[in-house]
Amino acid sequence: AAILNPNACPSVHRSIFSDFALPGRVAVITGGHRGIGLEMAFALAEAGAIVYCVDLPAFPDSDWEAVKQHVDKLSPLSEEIVRGAANKPSSKSKLVYISADVTDQDGTRAVFKHIAETEGRVDVCVACAGILRSAECLEYPGDEFRKLIDINVNGVFFTAQAAARQMVRLGIPGSIILIASMSGSIANRGQNFVAYNTSKSAVLQMARSMACELAPQKIRVNTISPGYILTDMTKAYLDPQPKLHAEWSSQNPMDRLGRPDELRGVVTWLASDASTYCTGSDMIVDGGHRAW
Ligand code: NDP
Repeated sequence: AAILNPNACPSVHRSIFSDFALPGRVAVITGGHRGIGLEMAFALAEAGAIVYCVDLPAFPDSDWEAVKQHVDKLSPLSEEIVRGAANKPSSKSKLVYISADVTDQDGTRAVFKHIAETEGRVDVCVACAGILRSAECLEYPGDEFRKLIDINVNGVFFTAQAAARQMVRLGIPGSIILIASMSGSIANRGQNFVAYNTSKSAVLQMARSMACELAPQKIRVNTISPGYILTDMTKAYLDPQPKLHAEWSSQNPMDRLGRPDELRGVVTWLASDASTYCTGSDMIVDGGHRAW
């Protein structure tokens, strides 16, 4: 390009495969033991990163057999997870589980400090932990509304903040990825998702604001907005309403819900050097739902 146009901006020429690879990188993902977070954790690990999954203490400390049974159903990488979870890291071990509640700001900071001290770096943070509750706006109980906002907004902020503090301290040009939703931009008529929609809208603005503040430190902050994805979260909502699955599918040009593994590519792209000029942006992965 430089020969054809002497005024062209200089480019750095690398293999596109090396752009997407994450060898030696350290990624932290909240909500990584099931659903979308689990698939994202696998993707980042397969790209070469060491991945720390931060979840509620769902499994008793000694009950690693329960972890194994849980993840055995899901991926051939489960042996690696169990090795990591059992705190017996091997050279192959790429996934490690840590229990924490993202609504605890000090606890979340302590987790990131521990990872930064153990690994010497934190390159990628994916804030994926979240919950869904449905109630009519006139009846929405205050404690339920607060709880949802606490996890989906405060917890996402505490996670991103804790990650950014370690990246700044260590001088690492990191990538922070917040999992928002198409529900941050549309109202999901008929679903009574007022708290959830409010929370996801806040996450979109949080990312834009943090992206601007952190750009001088070379830290990128972006969001991913999935459409309806079939996970435990959506199953718990859909199962009592058998017709709703078909209804949601019919609202989508692809006539189906998404699968968690269909978020693997976008998270790997945002985590990697393939997206170094992308910050403050939202990646929509909704099967065309909003184009319908
Ligand atoms: P799941 O319910 O399958 O997984 C949610 C995860 O978040 C679980 O691992 C859960 O841990 C964890 N979590 C919840 N609360 C906390 C907390 N306080 N501290 C730490 N971890 C916590 O959900 P999905 O995989 O479907 O959703 C993942 C993200 O994607 C959420 O933010 C969701 O809003 C978003 N999303 C989902 C869509 C969908 O259609 N499924 C669409 C758009 C966005 P535990 O299992 O221990 O409770």
